Amino acid sequence: MHGKVWLVGAGPGDPELLTLKAARVLRGAQVVMVDDLVNRAVLEHCPEARVIAVGKRGGCRSTPQAFIHRLMLRYARQGKCVVRLKGGDPCIFGRASEEADWLQARGIEVEVVNGITAGLAGATHFGIPLTLRGVARGVSFVTAHTQDDSPLDWTALAQSGTTLVVYMGVAKLAEIRGNLIAAGLAASTPVALIENASLPQQRECRSDLANMHEDALAFELKSPAILVIGEVAASASGSVQAARSSPGLRSK
Ligand code: SAH
Repeated sequence: MHGKVWLVGAGPGDPELLTLKAARVLRGAQVVMVDDLVNRAVLEHCPEARVIAVGKRGGCRSTPQAFIHRLMLRYARQGKCVVRLKGGDPCIFGRASEEADWLQARGIEVEVVNGITAGLAGATHFGIPLTLRGVARGVSFVTAHTQDDSPLDWTALAQSGTTLVVYMGVAKLAEIRGNLIAAGLAASTPVALIENASLPQQRECRSDLANMHEDALAFELKSPAILVIGEVAASASGSVQAARSSPGLRSK
């Protein structure tokens, strides 16, 4: 009898932003394969499970994707309930479909459990309403890091009238600025740089498109961070700011 693989979003860091469904699935897991960006505090929901770290942070020591695939397959074929726990949402720059397709092609049942993506949590924690009525008609989640280095359609993004939330952009700020300004976005467009969103050590730096690279250097911005680019990034913290969770639950 085959087991099952759950691709589960652990949320952005704050363990209280884990869904009830994710907590339930973790409680039933025998094997939990966990990414680097996942706050280990959420593992309190699966004290009996075998936990395997399979991090793959950019530029650091990483576990090859093929190895992760094979490990999930092996445990599922042993009849185990396997949770692949990913930061944020598994379907937002999280390779969920890649892993699901590979497993399903080998007869393994796969189910996805959503998580709160870092872009949403980061903006809300600093009071930025991503789709403020009359200011932003939508939001675009984009990655600055493409697998084949193919260029983004910067003109479409600059003209979209949407707030841009950029993932994996810390090392590419100068390039992003150059591309967006060349595509017609005003150099004065507000930017918020948000590091470690929803974690106790979260920080934000407000800037604008013209200055974000220098401001990020002065701020010593580090990954993981998201960039929020658009008029809404000038919103003061306040009205939509997320509630803080209880301190006991927030430790990493
Ligand atoms: N699936 C994840 C994204 C994985 S890609 C999600 O939905 O959030 C990794 C990128 O996510 C990082 O480079 C960073 O841009 C962003 N990120 C993840 N966690 C973050 C956090 N707590 N604060 C800010 N950015 C974060």
